[in-house]
Amino acid sequence: MSSDKNNRRRPWRHPRNRKVVLPYRTAAAIAVMEMGIRDYRVIAQAVGLSPQEVQRIDRAEDEPVRLLSTLGIPSGEYFKLEKEVRCPKCHARVVLAPCVACHSVSYSTSG
Ligand SMILES: [Zn+2]
Repeated sequence: MSSDKNNRRRPWRHPRNRKVVLPYRTAAAIAVMEMGIRDYRVIAQAVGLSPQEVQRIDRAEDEPVRLLSTLGIPSGEYFKLEKEVRCPKCHARVVLAPCVACHSVSYSTSG
């Protein structure tokens, strides 16, 4: 039995895959990475983890992390960030990941 003192929020669950249950911040870090942000320090500040923890998430050693990375963040799911980040694609400053601006653009325009 372990008690995680940092686990103040409920874990995040994938709406369609019961195996994917992750701490909220871990799922948020994956969402930020999906935006194309690769700087561990930027990701860490955005979600409230340490760069080492982000690096570990990026290595996808845990099965739920690997599953979510493969499945991708489901559409309609957004994670509130603790610090705003600049979207590398549209350069908007956002406090939600994935980038809301990019998502709405990708539906209304064709490349
Ligand atoms: Zn964007």
